[in-house]
Amino acid sequence: MDKQKDHVDFGDEMDVLVRPTGRISVLDRSFGSLIGAGIPFFGIGGGVLRWTLYQILTDFHAQRGYHVVMTPAVARSDLFAISGHLEFYRENMYLFKIEDKEFAIKPMNCPFHVLLLMNILQKYREHVPLPFRIFELGQVHRYEISGALYGLLRVREFTQDDAHIFTPSESAKAEILKTVEEMREIYEKLFQIPMNAENIRLRLSMSDPALIGSDYIGTREQWTEAEEYLRGVADEIQRRYGIEYFEGKGEAAFYGPKLDMVLRTEGEGEWQLGTVQFDFNLPHRFRLAELVRDVYGEEIPMYMVHRAYLGSIERFIGVYMDYRKGRLPFPLNPVQALVVGVLGGGREDEEIRRIVEEVRRGLAAVGIRVVRLLTDKVRVGRYVRKVESSVRPSIQLFIGAREVESGEGRVKYYDLSEGRHREVPFAFSGPEEIVQAVLGVAEKLEESVYELTGRRYRLYEDLNYMV
Ligand code: ZN
Repeated sequence: MDKQKDHVDFGDEMDVLVRPTGRISVLDRSFGSLIGAGIPFFGIGGGVLRWTLYQILTDFHAQRGYHVVMTPAVARSDLFAISGHLEFYRENMYLFKIEDKEFAIKPMNCPFHVLLLMNILQKYREHVPLPFRIFELGQVHRYEISGALYGLLRVREFTQDDAHIFTPSESAKAEILKTVEEMREIYEKLFQIPMNAENIRLRLSMSDPALIGSDYIGTREQWTEAEEYLRGVADEIQRRYGIEYFEGKGEAAFYGPKLDMVLRTEGEGEWQLGTVQFDFNLPHRFRLAELVRDVYGEEIPMYMVHRAYLGSIERFIGVYMDYRKGRLPFPLNPVQALVVGVLGGGREDEEIRRIVEEVRRGLAAVGIRVVRLLTDKVRVGRYVRKVESSVRPSIQLFIGAREVESGEGRVKYYDLSEGRHREVPFAFSGPEEIVQAVLGVAEKLEESVYELTGRRYRLYEDLNYMV
């Protein structure tokens, strides 16, 4: 059944997304008709997923030498005139007027990060360490034609896990290689996607030489030099990770060539995930060299590296839900654990109800998003199938007369890397041991994220109404 479903169906079932075609009966309107095309509308489960993901990404970057910022959604169009966006990116931008002044909704975060660097260089002078790294979960808006819009994959509003690294040219290669290693950590430890030749290809995205000057800023010599440089880095990445790379002509950003990680998927083809972009233009347009010379008292050739590991968070979630057929990593899964009480109509029912409630309470108390379900033997199979094809809990636990009498139970959990359920048996004499058994599995499922940041991410919400 799941084969025909896509991320919009999974997202709706798990309440990650509000389905745009869903009706609001009393208004006789659809949700999408009030939100507008291409603007993802996340549900309650989506809120849990995104806030947890944002916490993980914020910690991850802060611990690795990035400064975490939030920059405005809107700015005077003058900013984008300096950056070149008005000239080279205008057809993707939303421009409007407030009291006769022209403003733009940001299509990228880069110009703000350059301004931030300029501010601290002026303020703290030579104390500012280089390379300097600025990270933002930055929401951007870009125009796409209506016909191209689709689910979370082609949208007009999205959030980038965006960072800019301002680096002296001599450390640029080391900085880029470090970003690829960070990307690997995120893919493997947060999303269980091994960065190997089976899953990932590297695209070296180049300019189209015929369009330099019209679609790409800079001279042909600058482009050739930057592309040769990045090709050298791509060779190194191929050597280190064993992933193959190919060149994409005309796939560069308007300000420079880039390295794109492409996820191989069965059937559907390929999806771009992370990107590392090499920019020799923006620093030049903001006259960063002059400021750097003034501040450090010497000529330091500076490069700007743009990088995003998930790219668009919305699209990444969509691609991932398609790729994993609605299965999410435990820390991000809205409903993490399901406790089912199987009632037999006998004397044990009261005891079963009590255990289920105490287990639910015990797990909720330590921040596990747990829901409970009470059913009877006849209907349990149907209910469980329904939950399996809707909220898809990472962990399931069944308590019935058999478990209570034998004092033995099993925790069932979904193993993302193997793509199937597994079971862990345990013995118990009361609810406390059951809570510990479930917690043991939960901690195992959190382990790889714990390796990323040294923290466990628990954001408890009562989602019991979902089952
Ligand atoms: Zn950028």
